[in-house]
Amino acid sequence: MLRSLRVRLVTVMMLLIILMLAVMGVFLAGGVATHHINAFAGQMEEAFTLRLDFIGALRAGAGADDPPAALKEILTGHSALLGIDNLQRNFYILDAKTGAFLAGSDEQKGAALELTPSILTVLADNTKPAPIDARIGAGYMDFAAPIEGARGVYIVYIKDTNESSQELISQLLSVVFETLVVGVAMAIVLSLVLSKAITTPLERLTRGARRMASGTFAEGAAVAVAVESDDEIGVLTSTFNDMARELQRTLEEVGSERDKLGTLFLHMTDGVASFTRDGAPLQANPSAERMLGCHFSDMPRYDEVLGDVAPLAEVLALCEEPRFLLKECERGGRRLLISLAPFGREGIDGIMAVLHDVTEQHRLDEVRREFVLNVSHELRTPLTNIRSYAETLLDAKDLPPETASSFTQVILREAERMNNIVRDLLSLSRFDYGKLDWHVASFPLDEMLQSIHAAMLLEAERMRHELTLSCQSPLFLTGDRARLEQVVVNVLTNALKYTPAGGRVEVSASQTGDTARIVVRDNGIGIPKEDLPHIFERFYRVDKARTRHSGGTGLGLSIAREIVEAHHGVIDISSVSGEGTTVTISLPVEGEGAS
Ligand code: ADP
Repeated sequence: MLRSLRVRLVTVMMLLIILMLAVMGVFLAGGVATHHINAFAGQMEEAFTLRLDFIGALRAGAGADDPPAALKEILTGHSALLGIDNLQRNFYILDAKTGAFLAGSDEQKGAALELTPSILTVLADNTKPAPIDARIGAGYMDFAAPIEGARGVYIVYIKDTNESSQELISQLLSVVFETLVVGVAMAIVLSLVLSKAITTPLERLTRGARRMASGTFAEGAAVAVAVESDDEIGVLTSTFNDMARELQRTLEEVGSERDKLGTLFLHMTDGVASFTRDGAPLQANPSAERMLGCHFSDMPRYDEVLGDVAPLAEVLALCEEPRFLLKECERGGRRLLISLAPFGREGIDGIMAVLHDVTEQHRLDEVRREFVLNVSHELRTPLTNIRSYAETLLDAKDLPPETASSFTQVILREAERMNNIVRDLLSLSRFDYGKLDWHVASFPLDEMLQSIHAAMLLEAERMRHELTLSCQSPLFLTGDRARLEQVVVNVLTNALKYTPAGGRVEVSASQTGDTARIVVRDNGIGIPKEDLPHIFERFYRVDKARTRHSGGTGLGLSIAREIVEAHHGVIDISSVSGEGTTVTISLPVEGEGAS
């Protein structure tokens, strides 16, 4: 209860008021009492020490016929001097030997008069007055003085009951009390108002801080607390608002970074998986799940997943830079390069595995190696032939002219083959580096096919093939005519080449929608199913010995595909071994042409 600022403030204010008024009451009461005492003492001193006429009159009274009556009369005559009011202050004339009451301003009180210390002092020594007895809280003030006259010694005794001062004090105290009640009431009201002024913004700040602590503002809700004054609380509130804004901005930045990292984690092609020190799976992104062949929810422990790549203990023990292990392994037919490293802020919390699929890289390396091997092999065969025939020509000087001529023919043919290979390789490398000039224009496809048909007809007849052409007319295409002609000639040459004598080769062309389709169909030897996926690879040949003999380089279809794809078209090959092959070239009619 007392921990509330409001209650504390009210209590302090109340105590302050009570304390102030209590001190005031004490001082006022003390002041009033002292004033009365001083006034009494002053009056007594003046009358019985300084006023010689009064003292003389008293002494004369003590020598009169009836001294008590004479003294009473003198004292009554000097009531003003002595402050006698016959109520609180009275005078009494006493016998100096016995202290018996003889006369006085109040006979009744005189009869019941007690022998106070002052009276007793004068009774003991009749020669001098007793000291004035006036003390705070004594209940009365009195003074006794011996008066010696011709008829004996009498005691003049003045006694003040102090009632007026006590009455004044009690009135003052009641005023103080009333002030206290009003003051306390006002203090309560004022301190409530004041404490409300202080605590309301503090409560608002507390609510803001609670909202902040519960993370509400991270979801976009405003945390700002209204600043309603420019005092210390106002400064505190605006500082709080600044802090909340800064914190919100920082949290938003952190959140956005976290989102970015989360998105990266989800969509990165490399797999990332983490495990605890004990090998339990912590996290795995979809790529890691795919590469490791298991979903995170049922991912086994590290030992089962990657234990064969590197034991958990070995990774955890990595303490010298570079703190990671690079290993390769096979998973589900894919080659993975795995980097394993321990992580943790203080000590090691677990291990992180980054999985990189290097299957394609391996395949490309393999293709590159094979390519270099193929190129060397393809060039070495004609070179060897050229060399051996040239050496024979040089060595055997007496060769019959027909033999020498046929040797020269072989050298020429082999040189031509080498030339073709180098030409095709150059074309391919130009495709690879995009360094080809394309001459794009709209041209009649039907006319192009007719001229190819006419040109190939002789070759077909030589091989006793039936070569037919059926073409939708007119049929226009936009592209590089010369290169598209090269594609069709290559495909058609293959059809004639790989069809045994007396076969049938059909060329047809038509347009469906925006696509022109050129189909070359033969009933030749066909392509085995397992070779079909590789048929567009460079230097790929089904029957290497046979096709080489027939003059093929194994690059024709690769070049054809590059050209068709540069025209945004598709070249497709379907074949049944022993039954024949169909090559379909689909090209957009109004394509932007080769790019
Ligand atoms: P090549 O110059 O050796 O003919 P290509 O790239 O044109 O090279 O063809 C690749 C391989 O595809 C050929 O070696 C051949 O084995 C096969 N091939 C292509 N077309 C046909 C076809 N119409 N019939 C049978 N096999 C074919």
